[in-house]
Amino acid sequence: MKPVIALVGRPNVGKSTLFNRMTKSRDAIVADFAGLTRDRHYGDGRLGDREFIVVDTGGFEPTSTTGIVKEMAKQTRQAVAEADAVIFVVDVRMGLSGQDHDIARYLRTANKRVFVAVNKAEGMAESPLLAEFHELGMGDPIPISSAHGQGIRSLLDTVLDSFDYPEEDDEAADDGAIRLAVAGRPNVGKSTLINTWLGEERLIAFDMPGTTRDAISVPFEHDGKQFKLIDTAGLRRKGKVFEAIEKFSVVKTLQAISDANVVVLLLDATQGVTDQDAHIAGYILDSGRAVVMAINKWDAIDSYQRQMLERSIEQRLAFLKFAPLLQISALKRQGLGPLWKAIADAHASATKKMTTPVLTRLILEAVQHQTPKKVGHFRPKLRYAHQGGMNPPLVVIHGNSLAGVTESYKRFLEARIRAHYKLVGTPLKIELRSSE
Ligand code: GDP
Ligand code: GDP
Repeated sequence: MKPVIALVGRPNVGKSTLFNRMTKSRDAIVADFAGLTRDRHYGDGRLGDREFIVVDTGGFEPTSTTGIVKEMAKQTRQAVAEADAVIFVVDVRMGLSGQDHDIARYLRTANKRVFVAVNKAEGMAESPLLAEFHELGMGDPIPISSAHGQGIRSLLDTVLDSFDYPEEDDEAADDGAIRLAVAGRPNVGKSTLINTWLGEERLIAFDMPGTTRDAISVPFEHDGKQFKLIDTAGLRRKGKVFEAIEKFSVVKTLQAISDANVVVLLLDATQGVTDQDAHIAGYILDSGRAVVMAINKWDAIDSYQRQMLERSIEQRLAFLKFAPLLQISALKRQGLGPLWKAIADAHASATKKMTTPVLTRLILEAVQHQTPKKVGHFRPKLRYAHQGGMNPPLVVIHGNSLAGVTESYKRFLEARIRAHYKLVGTPLKIELRSSE
């Protein structure tokens, strides 16, 4: 599971600026989940191979002047509760204030790893002004400049060194079960679906975690296949039924999506597609996971509403058009067979093995069918292709002058590869490697 880092500090110290830096340190796409909750921002970050989730509490709108401190305290507490580590941001130009001491006092009771980042310290790495922040008694203050991007890498190194990232081999040594997550906003029917599933399938004994921070994954079997359900809501077993402890947790949702092989994105037929659905869908897309969309509560709408709904999903979630769309009723146990089949197909597609001879033949045939356009004096020359990864499948195409291959030509290649391997429910990544 990706560790979660909370940014804490009084207003104007530079938390949002630092948040932007941390999420942009990632080489790929940045996902910001402002839309999921009103008051907290969630983003994905990465330093080298180490990925993490950042939570910023800076974006809240205080309701009244007197309420600022109280509201900040509430946001801070929630972010800290979800976090594995805290970066306590202070402002070197303002020095330590009473509010900083209040926050420090609270953080000492919260029992989390805390790192003090002294912001706005551009050109001040050796400044005596930094000494003041030792007073907080929270280890060596780390000077940074969020605005200028100084000290961020060494801050992140220090924070990430405090986590145990698994060696790659550990993950490969997994038992081969398909890791499955059900994602969706509150009330779409996640718990109902999970209980329907787990009520019908053979549960394999598992250990309940000791604390709410520990994620559980429930192993079970369906149709002879081993699955592991990755929890998104702090599931607890109560008799035969699973119960969600938290109603909705952005952090657990984001962690479960990145930890899964296949994600079921659950939508609510009675509510249509909301911004929150689109945000979660966007995160699933970024994660590269296999995905199946299921419209739940299909029983509760009439045929006119059904038509309108499918159209609106096709429009608003067009970026997930590779994902199959199913209609189910978790409550009435309808549509669950096709859902299982879609999950199995998506997993098979995501882990499809593609050999170099077949991939090479496919791209050469594609070129014969339609040659890429010349750019300047050069025409991109596609030579051969090999598979560079799975879940999502990655096809690496080798050749010359490939920088000139257009996005639309890439989509054309993708479509040919997809059609040949009958890929459903998984993104397909194409990487171009020029040898000059
Ligand atoms: P937040 O309220 O803690 O989220 O703070 P913001 O990120 O909104 O920053 C508050 C102000 O400080 C803005 O005007 C930023 O441009 C400025 N700021 C942030 N980081 C730095 C920095 O490293 N150096 C300087 N000089 N200003 C900064
Ligand atoms: P969660 O917050 O996503 O875990 O949602 P729940 O599983 O708690 O379900 C929210 C509400 O939707 C509950 O009242 C369920 O009984 C109801 N519900 C769940 N699935 C269905 C369904 O397939 N049809 C109908 N009509 N209601 C459903």
